Amino acid sequence: MPKRLIRYAVVGLGHIAQVAVLPAFGNARRNSRLAAIVSGDPVKREAMQQKYGVGQAYAYEDYERCLASGEIDAVYIALPNHLHREYAERAARAGVHVLCEKPMALDEADCESMAAAARVAGVKLMVAYRLHFERANLEAIETARSGRIGEPRLFNSTFVTPVVPGNIRVRRETGGGVLWDIGIYCINAARSLFSDEPVEVGCTTVGRHDEIEESVSAWLRFPNERLATFTASFGAAKVSAYRLVGTKGDLAVDPAYEYAKPLKHRLTIDGEQRERRFAKRDQFAPELLYFSDCILQDRDPEPSAEEGLADVRVIRALYRSAGSGRPVELAPFARRERPSLEQEIRRPPIDKPQVVHAQAPSGAGG
Ligand code: NDP
Repeated sequence: MPKRLIRYAVVGLGHIAQVAVLPAFGNARRNSRLAAIVSGDPVKREAMQQKYGVGQAYAYEDYERCLASGEIDAVYIALPNHLHREYAERAARAGVHVLCEKPMALDEADCESMAAAARVAGVKLMVAYRLHFERANLEAIETARSGRIGEPRLFNSTFVTPVVPGNIRVRRETGGGVLWDIGIYCINAARSLFSDEPVEVGCTTVGRHDEIEESVSAWLRFPNERLATFTASFGAAKVSAYRLVGTKGDLAVDPAYEYAKPLKHRLTIDGEQRERRFAKRDQFAPELLYFSDCILQDRDPEPSAEEGLADVRVIRALYRSAGSGRPVELAPFARRERPSLEQEIRRPPIDKPQVVHAQAPSGAGG
C-alpha cells in the first residue's frame, strides 16, 4: 500500500513559518501532515506544539534524531538563507525530502551541492516559490506567452518592503541583502514572463540599512533585445508591482508579489483597459499539496533546484556588477520548464495567527 500522507517537519519557527507555513497544513490535509517542528526556542516549541497538536518538537541539536526518527518524510526549511544548504543536505543525506524556502542558497556552488545531495540520496528537492502556484502570476505568464500584448519587450518592477534593523534580511551573517530577499521576486518574474534567461546584467546599490545596502536598481538584458529593470528597497513604504510591456499592449500587476492581499491585473490592449482582481488565497498550502504529490507519485518537482539556481546566479552577477560598477555577462543557461496555469492550486485564505517570539520584517509581531 503506498503511503498517502507525507509527514513534514517544519524547521525554524520564525515569522513565515508561524504566519504561513504551519497554518497551511490545515489546507493541505489531503496528502500532508505536520508531524514535527524544529526550533531553538523552547517557548515556541511548546506553544506551536500545543496550537497545532504536533507530535514531536526538536531543538536544532536534535535535528539528526528528528531526521532519523522514521516519523517524518520531508522537511520544510524556513531558516535564514545562510542555513538553507546545511539543513537541506543533512535532510537529504538522511533520506528525507526537502522543501526549501527561497533563495535556495547564497551561491551557485551551494545550490549545485544541494541538488547533488538530493540526487545521490534519491530524494525530491523543491524551492518554495509560492507564486508558481498562484493564479494571478500564472495568468500573467500565460498572457505574456499568448501574444495578447504582442511580443513582450520590457519588464519593469518596483518592490519595496520596510525592514527593521536586526532582522535576518539586513544582517550579513544570515544572508541578508535586498536582492536575496525581494529582488529575487522581480528576477523570477522577469525570467518567467520572458520565458528566457538573461545574458547580461548591471546593478547599482545605494544607502546603508543596518549591515547591507538600502536600495538596488538593476537591469537584465535578455536575448532578442528585451530588457527587464527593477528597483527594490528596504528603506521606503511598501510597494509590490510590475509592468510588462509588449508590442500591442501591456499588463500591470499591482500588488504583484504579496501573499497577504488580493493581487490585481490591469491589462491594456490597443488602448482598451480591463482590470481583474485575484482574491487572496493561501499560497503555502498549494506548495505542500504539490510537493507531497510529487513524492507520492515519484514526479520531479518544479520549481526545481535548477530554478533556484537560475535566480541565484543572476543575484550573484548583480552584486558583482554593483561591486565593480560594470555590466556582467552571464554564461548561457537553459531552462526547459516554466511555470504554467496547469500548476495552479486554489486554497482559501487563512486567518493571520498571533505569533510567538517572531517579528514581521517591518517589526510588527509578538
Ligand atoms: P525570521 O527571522 O522571522 O525566522 C527565521 C527563524 O530561523 C528564526 O525565528 C529562528 O527560529 C531560526 N533560526 C535559526 N538559526 C538562526 C539564526 N542564526 N539567526 C536567526 N534565526 C535563526 O525569518 P523569516 O521567517 O521571515 O524568513 C525565513 C526564510 O523564509 C528566509 O529564507 C526567507 O527568505 C524566507 N521567506 C519566504 C517568504 C515567502 O513568501 N516565500 C516570505 C518570508 C520569508 P527558532 O527561533 O524557531 O529557532
